[in-house]
Amino acid sequence: MKRLLTRQLRKAFPDGAPEDAQFALFIDLVEQAYDSFNEQAQITERSLDLSCEELNQRNHTLEMILDSLPDTSLWIDAHGKVKDIRAGSITPAIVSADDNFSSLFDLPIVIQSPALRNFLTDFHTKRHQLAEIEICANQRRYYVSASLTMVSQSRWLLVLQDISSRKELDALQQLRVQELERSKRQLQELVNSAPIGILICRPDLEVVMINDFLPHLLGYSYQELFETNPVSLITAADQPAFLHEVANALNEPQGEVARRCDVAMLYRKSATKQVELSLSSIVFDGRQLLIVSINDISERKELERRLRMLAETDPLTKALNRRSYYQKNEQVMRQCQRHQWPFSLILLDVDYFKKVNDNFGHPVGDEVLVRLADTVRGLLAEDFVFARLGGEEFAISCPNTSLERAVRFAEQLRTAIEAINIEVQAQRVPLTISLGVVGSSTMGSDLDSFVKLYKRADECVYKAKSGGRNRVVCE
Ligand code: GH3
Ligand code: MG
Ligand code: MG
Repeated sequence: MKRLLTRQLRKAFPDGAPEDAQFALFIDLVEQAYDSFNEQAQITERSLDLSCEELNQRNHTLEMILDSLPDTSLWIDAHGKVKDIRAGSITPAIVSADDNFSSLFDLPIVIQSPALRNFLTDFHTKRHQLAEIEICANQRRYYVSASLTMVSQSRWLLVLQDISSRKELDALQQLRVQELERSKRQLQELVNSAPIGILICRPDLEVVMINDFLPHLLGYSYQELFETNPVSLITAADQPAFLHEVANALNEPQGEVARRCDVAMLYRKSATKQVELSLSSIVFDGRQLLIVSINDISERKELERRLRMLAETDPLTKALNRRSYYQKNEQVMRQCQRHQWPFSLILLDVDYFKKVNDNFGHPVGDEVLVRLADTVRGLLAEDFVFARLGGEEFAISCPNTSLERAVRFAEQLRTAIEAINIEVQAQRVPLTISLGVVGSSTMGSDLDSFVKLYKRADECVYKAKSGGRNRVVCE
């Protein structure tokens, strides 16, 4: 029997328990109830042991994790007492194990760091908060990410993670971005101050910068120039030359040699403008860029054209002069030789021109020569070469033209010139020409061949003169 039951029975029945069958049954039942209660108590005790063990295990694991964390962590109770400290890997350490069990607000880092003090004020009313703050410790400033978490009703965990290096990196990155912005601004200012058009693009020709002068130079808006591939600003004929120089410039070690080419660019989308391009590559912010400077050379080209014309043509009649005629004629003869084309030469000489000068004056003689040249030009085929060889003598080289065709053309000229009407004081100035025409089906391109041909044509002119003038003689 259970001792407690025996004691209770002794108290209730000091003279001994009644000898009664029903009472004995009652005692049995009470004893069984005791046994089952014991059993329950043992089970509860065992499961309590298990839970305790599990709890210890968990605490142990948590501490191991905290120990291995690089962050500084402090366990705090509801009264602000520091219950446990992990110094973490902030060096030199900002808290020490000696601070254990001191008051949170007495810790040197909290006293010295107003931002941390603010962060921790009324901590016991907060469940979780996070902030990046500046703290002072060891006479140094640190940037930390502070996190405060309520772990249970009476425990808070404060974790301080050092983010000083990240902040420094951020600051450096920001500084770099600012510097880059500044050098970009300087580049843009430099580019804007240039009195020529400047376009900067990536190697794939995507435009990244243009200067203020370029829209003015090409007659496009700033926006249009930004959105247009520079190749399409160049006339189709000059695009291959441009792309060739782009490739050359990109292959040059940066900025060493500028590649140049003259191209026609589309001005206001329809007209063209002659420009000189200078292309060079630079490396900016680690990337290769192509700088294209665009110089308007329309005026220079026009001057060149006029100079060339002056050098090549006779100022009175605008026909080619003797020297450039020989050059052009050589090209034409070579072309005929290459293609096995027939070649014809027409020489023409004004009849009695001396008399024109004598009777009407030298200026009228000049006018006759001008009108004659204009008339010839009006009838010339595109590839014929017309020149004034001297005085009142002219030559016409006719490539890919048979003798028959050249004679027909000479006849056409003769009648057209005969029809020119120049009057001086109601008197018509007589104007006729004598022409000599020679042809060759197989041409040499050397000077000798030409001289021979010229001599034959000159003889024809002579024959025309002696035959009565105002006629075509061929051979
Ligand atoms: P022919 O029918 O035989 O050719 O007689 P022509 O009078 O035309 O020939 P000639 O060679 O005797 O005279 C040519 C003249 O052309 C002589 C020269 O004063 C004149 N002359 C040459 N160059 C010019 C010029 O630029 N302007 C003017 N007005 N006369 C010129
Ligand atoms: Mg003459
Ligand atoms: Mg003459």
